[in-house]
Amino acid sequence: MIIGLTGGIGSGKTAAANRFATAHGIHVVDADEKSRVVVQPGKPALQHIVDRFGDAILLEDGSLNRAALREQVFAAPAERQWLEQLLHPLIRDEIITDLKSASSPYALLVSPLLVESGQNALTKRVIVVDVPEAVQLSRTVQRDAVPEAQVRAIMQAQAQREERLRHAHDVLTNGSDLAALHAQVDALHQRYLQLLETQS
Ligand code: ATP
Repeated sequence: MIIGLTGGIGSGKTAAANRFATAHGIHVVDADEKSRVVVQPGKPALQHIVDRFGDAILLEDGSLNRAALREQVFAAPAERQWLEQLLHPLIRDEIITDLKSASSPYALLVSPLLVESGQNALTKRVIVVDVPEAVQLSRTVQRDAVPEAQVRAIMQAQAQREERLRHAHDVLTNGSDLAALHAQVDALHQRYLQLLETQS
């Protein structure tokens, strides 16, 4: 059984996933990490990107300048679509390979774009980490030491809170402290074990 976990920037996906992993030994696959793996130097996708956008898309050490790429596709839907068509299947393959290595009773797929990318097709249930926007903003500003306007722009570009919640089977409410989040994760874990039991 694969459970998807999603939420907006700074909502607490990592904090929740860490609890599943450390307290319950659940195998966690991070889609963000996979999206970096597929464009590492030497990977074919990086060469395709250079062929399309030129050498200026690389940093001096030959790795992808992700900020420059983001800028290139931000206001160019056709370029963004090209990039997504290149990367999404590769990321999906990496995710599946990793998920196959899981030995825990179920595995967790953490992805900020779980629904938007179609990765939720791999999952039996979807957890949404939900947090009031003001809390999301202040935690992210503090964590990343970036201007508020920058975080607001990212939040605007991501799925809206209500839209995300529409896809949730389970919700983790993360407006309070970490202990409160952990208690909810622990309860969900027990529920998933029960679900597995009734299925078998
Ligand atoms: P991103 O999508 O940007 O990677 P995320 O959804 O993984 O973010 P986290 O990194 O888990 O979010 O949380 C954002 C910040 O808020 C982190 O600094 C984290 O330590 C902090 N945080 C998360 N949950 C809580 C909480 N309940 N109480 C206090 N701080 C929290």
